[in-house]
Amino acid sequence: MLIKKKTYTFAALKINCMKRYIVFIVLVMVFFSCTQNNSKEKEMSTTISTQVVDETVRELEAKFPASDKELLRRGVQITGKFWLERDGSPNEFKQFCLDNYEPQNKKQLLERFSKNLENVYGRFIQVSTQVQFALHVGNEPLLPVDEVFASWSPFAHLNDDWFDNKLALILHLNFPYYSLDERNTKGFQWSDEENAAVNLGLNFASRVPSKVQQKANETATRTELYISNYNIYMNNIVDEKGEKHFPKDMRLISHWGLRDELKSNYVDRSETGLLKQKLLYELMLRIINQDIPQEFINTEGNDYCPSNNKFFKNGKETAFERENDVRYAFLLEVFNAEKASDEYSPLYPDAIKRAFDQGLEMTFDEVETIFTTFLSASVNKEIGKYISNQLGRPLQAYDIWYDGFKTRSAISEDDLTAKTAKMFPNAQTLQKQLPEILQTLGYSKERATEICKYIAVDAARGSGHAMGAGMRSDISRLRVRIPETGLNYNGFNVAMHEFGHNVEQTVSMYDIDNYMNTGIPNTAFTEALAFIFQKRDLDVLGYAETNPDKQKMTTLDIYWGALEIMGVALVDMYAWQWMYANPDASPQQLKAAVIDIAKNLWNKYFAPVFGITDSPILAIYSHMISYPLYLAAYPVGHLIEFQLEQHLEGKNFAAEIDRIYRIGHRSPTVWMTKAVGSKLSAEAFIKAASEALGALR
Ligand SMILES: [Zn+2]
Repeated sequence: MLIKKKTYTFAALKINCMKRYIVFIVLVMVFFSCTQNNSKEKEMSTTISTQVVDETVRELEAKFPASDKELLRRGVQITGKFWLERDGSPNEFKQFCLDNYEPQNKKQLLERFSKNLENVYGRFIQVSTQVQFALHVGNEPLLPVDEVFASWSPFAHLNDDWFDNKLALILHLNFPYYSLDERNTKGFQWSDEENAAVNLGLNFASRVPSKVQQKANETATRTELYISNYNIYMNNIVDEKGEKHFPKDMRLISHWGLRDELKSNYVDRSETGLLKQKLLYELMLRIINQDIPQEFINTEGNDYCPSNNKFFKNGKETAFERENDVRYAFLLEVFNAEKASDEYSPLYPDAIKRAFDQGLEMTFDEVETIFTTFLSASVNKEIGKYISNQLGRPLQAYDIWYDGFKTRSAISEDDLTAKTAKMFPNAQTLQKQLPEILQTLGYSKERATEICKYIAVDAARGSGHAMGAGMRSDISRLRVRIPETGLNYNGFNVAMHEFGHNVEQTVSMYDIDNYMNTGIPNTAFTEALAFIFQKRDLDVLGYAETNPDKQKMTTLDIYWGALEIMGVALVDMYAWQWMYANPDASPQQLKAAVIDIAKNLWNKYFAPVFGITDSPILAIYSHMISYPLYLAAYPVGHLIEFQLEQHLEGKNFAAEIDRIYRIGHRSPTVWMTKAVGSKLSAEAFIKAASEALGALR
């Protein structure tokens, strides 16, 4: 789940589990949901002309002859881009700059902004944590009012307020924005103070009017509803002979539920297992192509055969209306709502830049290059052959979800649960033992105690999440479901993942001097440490791994999963490029384009591995419709994890984790280079997979 402070007010709240992006989107919506319509809202100003900028710069240079000219111009230019007509006339703009540009006080100004932002972000997060407490913690019955509390956010008006009282404009004038490219190159030379000044300038990066944001929220809510109501009653799915294979009461959401059911059938090697997988795959293709009957979606009672696209009412074949490209109409709506923010986001002028340069702090091209390198690796074909051998049949397109790399530990799950339940009967005992857990990972007693002082354990309502503090006097929260019988093994595994987040949250907050430098580049960097902790869960329980293949199988499991997600992430990315190139497209045209993109990607990267051409299956992800441009972050977390693991080998785990997570918020390129000596790349992960496969064979 969430949370983390800073950088761009709203994007500020960082999620700590990739699995939980839903929460993030809901929160983003919530932040804006109570903003008011302002009929006087003017569009982003063009009143500040180049001439006004030039004049202002000249006057400021005369006033501050010793100041850095490049920095001065940059500040005036960026402030001009954010200046609205209602902020004042061009003359008032000039006067505002003359009054508020303070190069002689830059250090104090940086301190003042850092301190106040730490207080604002930190306390707002405390308040959010508190009003959401009932929803997240304990097992008391919820009151209807709890959801209302949880959906309110103190952040809702911050952006508006700080632009209206011109604090955000003073910030941009004195701490101008640096592009990702500049941060990736110049960032290596910056002192802590210079880096903090640049990080400060990344805040308040857009000035989207509330009515535009409101519209985007409404679209997001409707899209989310469309996806969350896209269920299939599986007992109504029939094969070509009219026979049913799925249990009564099985209702699956597209695509997550369908995919998980497909995965679970790998254990059933009979004809039925295969047939069920085939039916699920064909159903997905009908959804992608939108020829699924409209009235079959989310409705129980009538039968449907996805293999031949026949629909039956009371056992009789019936003509039907297909879904008619609603899926793509929603995607277009999301696109248009996002695009409406473009003109108010001068620093990140399109949704792709906001998702990549701003959110992930990696460019579209950088991510694309890493993913395509990975997807082109020669080992992929070898892994495909290995899977085909294991399955005893040629690969099918749906084997992108092959689930056979999961290993059972030599110790039964029941035995593990007996141990964890005894060790951790409740939240208090887990809390008490956190320092010992860190010690088993190699931390000294003193350091372990120091870190754990800032981590509180709560019994979660859901499966678990980690919430970071937003200020130095606050703590982070480790939340995990603890049944009355004590923490089960699965819960302990989740707790280790969340604990990894908490350690990152603590080190990257408390061990960094300047608040603006606290944190990490993006969510993928905290996921990496969460994965690293999670993988060491059995070490902590005192079980040396006895299955010699476990590590290798896990590596291949993650690798094969990453291959699939990189594929679908690229479909998502290219679809957005296509929409920007074709903003007036119809849903039908968008559908054709998405299917085309998915097939091309398949033919280029997956067909050589699978021996099958033209599958559009990579277009099935529902994230693409309701949480667009987010998928790329997930495999990036695993890439970082493998580079970190490779680096940690043979080194002092605790000392290195401390050193690495003290790097703080730098661009990912600078961070990775300082952390492991090389920038983010696909190579470490590919190498690990090759070695794992070699050893298994
Ligand atoms: Zn996580």
